[in-house]
Amino acid sequence: MPSLTHDEALSRAALVAVEAMEVDLDLDRGPEVFGSRTTITFTCRRPGESTVVDLRPQALHSVRLNGRELQDVLVDGRLRLADLAADNVLEVEATMSYGHDGQGLHRSSDPADGEDYVYGHLFLDAAPRVFACFDQPDLKAPYTVGVRAPEHWSVLGNGGATQVAPGRWELARTAPLATYFVTVCAGPWASVTAEHDGVPLGIHARRSLERPLREQAEHMLATTRTCLDHYHRLFGIRYPFGEYHQVFVPEFNAGAMENPGCVTFRDAYVFRGAASPDQVLERDNTIAHEMAHMWFGDLVTMRWWDDLWLNESFAEYMAYRTSAEALGAPQSWVSFGIVRKLWGYAAERAPSTHPVAGSPAPDALSALQNFDGISYAKGASVLRQLIAHIGDEAFLAGVRDYLRGHAYGNGELAEFLAAMAAAAGEDLGPWAGAWLRTAGADRLELTRTGTLTRRTPEEHPADRPHTLDVAAFDHGREALREDVVLTGERAEVPGVAGLPEGALVVPNAGDLTWAEVALDPGTVAALVDGLADVPDPVARTVVWTSLLGGMHRGEVDPRVVVDVLESAWPREDDAAVLSRVALVVTGTVVPLFLPPAEQAEAMERVAHAADALGQRARGASGPAARAWGLLAARVGARGLRDEARLHRWAAGADLPPELAGDDDFRWLVLRRLAALDALEEAELEAAQEADRSLAGRLAALGVRAARPTPQAKEWAWSTLAKDPELSNYGALEVARGFWVAEDPAVVRPYVGRVGDLLARLEPRMGEDALSRVATALHPKWLVEPATLAASSELLAREDLSPGVHRALLDEDHVLREVLESRRRFG
Ligand SMILES: [Zn+2]
Repeated sequence: MPSLTHDEALSRAALVAVEAMEVDLDLDRGPEVFGSRTTITFTCRRPGESTVVDLRPQALHSVRLNGRELQDVLVDGRLRLADLAADNVLEVEATMSYGHDGQGLHRSSDPADGEDYVYGHLFLDAAPRVFACFDQPDLKAPYTVGVRAPEHWSVLGNGGATQVAPGRWELARTAPLATYFVTVCAGPWASVTAEHDGVPLGIHARRSLERPLREQAEHMLATTRTCLDHYHRLFGIRYPFGEYHQVFVPEFNAGAMENPGCVTFRDAYVFRGAASPDQVLERDNTIAHEMAHMWFGDLVTMRWWDDLWLNESFAEYMAYRTSAEALGAPQSWVSFGIVRKLWGYAAERAPSTHPVAGSPAPDALSALQNFDGISYAKGASVLRQLIAHIGDEAFLAGVRDYLRGHAYGNGELAEFLAAMAAAAGEDLGPWAGAWLRTAGADRLELTRTGTLTRRTPEEHPADRPHTLDVAAFDHGREALREDVVLTGERAEVPGVAGLPEGALVVPNAGDLTWAEVALDPGTVAALVDGLADVPDPVARTVVWTSLLGGMHRGEVDPRVVVDVLESAWPREDDAAVLSRVALVVTGTVVPLFLPPAEQAEAMERVAHAADALGQRARGASGPAARAWGLLAARVGARGLRDEARLHRWAAGADLPPELAGDDDFRWLVLRRLAALDALEEAELEAAQEADRSLAGRLAALGVRAARPTPQAKEWAWSTLAKDPELSNYGALEVARGFWVAEDPAVVRPYVGRVGDLLARLEPRMGEDALSRVATALHPKWLVEPATLAASSELLAREDLSPGVHRALLDEDHVLREVLESRRRFG
């Protein structure tokens, strides 16, 4: 089906306006199809002309325009409507297919109890898989939705739902909505409801998650209430969509989706085992992020997909700000630096990098590709620079003005910038040109004599002004902190010259700007002894992102990263830094950047560091100590080679108390045993028997694929290629386990076969989900020249969709970085 082009959207919006949408869905027709009836009331500015309505049915039963039955009007997912009147009513009746790829109306069965659940994910262009519509973000209309469902189900949606008869639900008429955030969620949900400031609240998840849902609901509701109050204060507009439900749904591709009044989240956010503070903070941030969209994205929606970044940059920024400012989590910006900016800097290094704003989206689907670390992490960082540039008061005044001026309608970048410029009393054109319309990160370097230099990437020239600070630390004491506004190629930071030789000097210590920071050699040399004593967690984060960025750029020996981890990591306090740094070192630095002969020993050192953190946890008390114990065990489970100890852990012995009976942790241990080829089939089967949940089923797939035997790899490959029951989540788990093999000979035969497999999966999985699988299936794990040749062949294929191609291109780039690093450092 062709994706709607921007030109088509422009001419359609110039011709028609939608007054009302009535949608009636019958979800009680078994597991494969549902009934869909739509009535669209719309006007036409030039009667007599024609237009198209989007619909992708399994079977179309009838189309009536202004009472006239139309025949044979469905072509390529569009109903062709000729001879429009000034006022029109279109009635469409169809049978639709459920999605199993996380798009449209996704339906899945919970293996724990056999219950089915349905949720609507209409982003980005899947609305026509559910009902007939003008599927573009600027044709908004109020929705009245009715649903028939099995009698033991409950139904949720954008408008408050009322059961009017057994199995029959009516949803309150909504404020004007764009098609992409309409949803219906139906199934035998477990629910916790509450109310705050006149807004009915609900938290819902699968029935088999009821116990953890009830335990965690109060925390989530408290976060929800605080965010609601905070946004009311910041935006000066009351929450505009009636009720506010948060539904944790199975097999969700993204993290969450901001459907007005009915936000959907991936249900791994309902923690069934122990959760570390960074996981809870991430969930709080996601709650805050989606709620920010109620104003920015939902109340005011981008006119076309090329401004999608503005939604995401804004919500990302607001979420971290709200966590720090209202949720009592000042460490939120630490997490932003080590999790989000690390992701964003990787996207900026990749060949697919692009400007934050202004990347053309000639059709709807092409916008999805730019939905990445640039749109979220860099965009939010650029908003922080904007605030540093114009001041917070002007920023908030501009935001309020923009929201008020476009409420229930649409806006675009130029209008947002105009509101900002009016509030700031300044032309923001040059600033936006450099920061928003040009890709690339400047390189910032500070000499020990105090000269800070900016080097702009040749391929993305721009004059970016930076507002930042420079700090230095000496023996655990902050020895210097200076604010700098860098408007040209260089600036002097006078205090640096007088610092003692062993001091750590950290440019951008407050992490306010977006730049590649190159640490000076004296600072790098001092990290092993000095990093753990740096009292500022944000500065420690900047050191880690600089070090890891330097490793990717071929400037820092990966061995230095392992050395610093061994000394500084066990003394780190922040849970996000502990988690993320360990994940990157065990997942990327050791298995990719270090030569194979050194990998086993390096993993042992990581496991020892985990032991050191575990000891520190046992010597302390309180929530922080509990978090260290938890993280130490998880990191140990990824790095240990001590099979006897791993088996004891798998059996639940010798564990910190919070991990007793934790199924997710046991799967982590089993995966490590599988990778070491030390897992008996009987042990794996017993684990599956003991954990029959959806999460358990998925984890078992990953464990099976991670066994380093030819039989296991053959099984994994044919499961991916041929198992029609494999969900997108299942495919991702298998793909992530596939390349795990200490002996590369086991997986080498598959290096040249990845493209054929991806091409085969393409029609079944959908571009979004397949892109994630493609990232995992790229053969970069075999770091050898032959892999590079195979990777080039993959990129030359013409039968893969643009999103998949792009995922492969970025992995190809990582392989090149790794080869260059190995060439340079051995
Ligand atoms: Zn978002």
